[in-house]
Amino acid sequence: MNAVATDLIRLIDQSPSLEVLVLRCVLAESQRAGERPLIRGIGPASFALLRETCLPGVELDNADQPAARFDEFEELFELLLDYAAPLDPMSIWLAAAIATAAQRDNHLWQDMGLPSRRELNALLRQRFPSLAALNVGDMKWKKFFYRQLCERAGVPICKSPSCGVCVDHPVCFGPEV
Ligand code: SF4
Repeated sequence: MNAVATDLIRLIDQSPSLEVLVLRCVLAESQRAGERPLIRGIGPASFALLRETCLPGVELDNADQPAARFDEFEELFELLLDYAAPLDPMSIWLAAAIATAAQRDNHLWQDMGLPSRRELNALLRQRFPSLAALNVGDMKWKKFFYRQLCERAGVPICKSPSCGVCVDHPVCFGPEV
């Protein structure tokens, strides 16, 4: 185990707020996966403040690696920011962390390095309440976010006019385990 991972585990044991815990988990998961930047969309000054807020004393490199990316990070980041309440630095960091992790391949809570989906549910209700409230059917979070993006763009993605009669219902609403 490297020194950064050891520091992260030590700090996770110190009763942080939910927001700080989530950011530490995302940073640790990005670090574990060897990804750069650890969290996208955050400039050096803002990341320095994030690090001091969440992981004081821990050295982290958030430098970008030049690579062409064709994904939905920016769109999802903007969607989350539009619903952030309050729109403060913590919400901006969390929106960036969620949008960063959402570009990976697993359930969102897994890509964020969280212990379970419960922490993600609680965080979204706490920091993005009106967006979370739109997920009335408890859709998988990635599915829900991407459906929101498609609706914003006016692009139909669904095969049925309603979820209740859709053949993809198990795909969108099945358990995230
Ligand atoms: S269940 Fe079907 S209609 Fe509902 S979001 Fe999924 S694909 Fe769209």
